[in-house]
Amino acid sequence: EDEYIGFATLPDQVHRKAVRRGFDFTLMVVGESGLGKSTLINSLFLTELYKDRKIPSVEELVHRTVAIEKKQLEIEEKGVRVKLTIVDTPGFNDAVNAEESWKSVVDYVDQQFQQYYQDETGLNRRNIVDNRVHCCLYFISPYGHGLKPADITMMKKLHHKVNIVPLIAKADMLTKVEVKRLKQRVIDEIDNNDIHIYEFPDCDSDEDDDFKQQDKELKAAVPFAVVGCNTVVEAGGKKIRGRAYPWGIVEIDNPNHCDFVRLRQMLISTHMQDLKDVTADVHYENFRAQHIFESMA
Ligand code: GDP
Ligand code: MG
Repeated sequence: EDEYIGFATLPDQVHRKAVRRGFDFTLMVVGESGLGKSTLINSLFLTELYKDRKIPSVEELVHRTVAIEKKQLEIEEKGVRVKLTIVDTPGFNDAVNAEESWKSVVDYVDQQFQQYYQDETGLNRRNIVDNRVHCCLYFISPYGHGLKPADITMMKKLHHKVNIVPLIAKADMLTKVEVKRLKQRVIDEIDNNDIHIYEFPDCDSDEDDDFKQQDKELKAAVPFAVVGCNTVVEAGGKKIRGRAYPWGIVEIDNPNHCDFVRLRQMLISTHMQDLKDVTADVHYENFRAQHIFESMA
């Protein structure tokens, strides 16, 4: 099934170097509190996060996030090591701490740029650890009618610094039609407010048709509708990761139920390299230029 994996198709030289050193990749989650940020992170990387330990209880897994938390883990994709850093943020729940919240998130992103800049101009340039934030998953409430003012502010503070990938949180709370409507609304509001989200690169024309089709579906699915869940339910003798309701089970790994699998695939394989490239070539260069400009003033 998942036969187009980004790493495996990298040019040989790049690939070899990457295999040797491994990739550094940092993912951040941002959005209103209670939208399932911590849960989704656990769902995306649960097996990796808890490989060496017993699976913790749900309470242990989802305690309230009160400060920016960094988790590090290693994953392997077709023999390539990825050192994954996940930055979980507390989120905001009202106008009162919204400002405080964006400040701490923006500071975090800036500090990683600052550190990279220092390392790059230092003596040990060859062994820099890249802690820059390569992707920000931005959670949008399923209960509202689109973006809230706090979302717009937050996204505008971040969009020139980091690749924003918007998500419709807790998509199991909505019907298919509602998901579709909310997605369109969010895309319209992103446009109308001049918010720059991560732009998926055009597909190479020499890719095969399957790849092109998958790529098209991926782009059409933005903002990804996600469901997070760390419990397993039984259905027809099979164990399924999902949320059970009186009317049925929402399976998080079923692409007909939500975009969870699409998101995971794009993050850890097909688009990881591009997210890193855009971070280095666009966002970091912005920071550097600004930094140099300010130090001259
Ligand atoms: P955070 O504050 O954004 O980190 O949210 P949490 O991950 O702590 O989740 C808040 C609550 O929402 C918890 O009770 C979760 O079990 C629940 N939750 C998380 N993800 C989902 C989801 O996709 N659908 C539904 N219905 N509930 C969810
Ligand atoms: Mg949390």
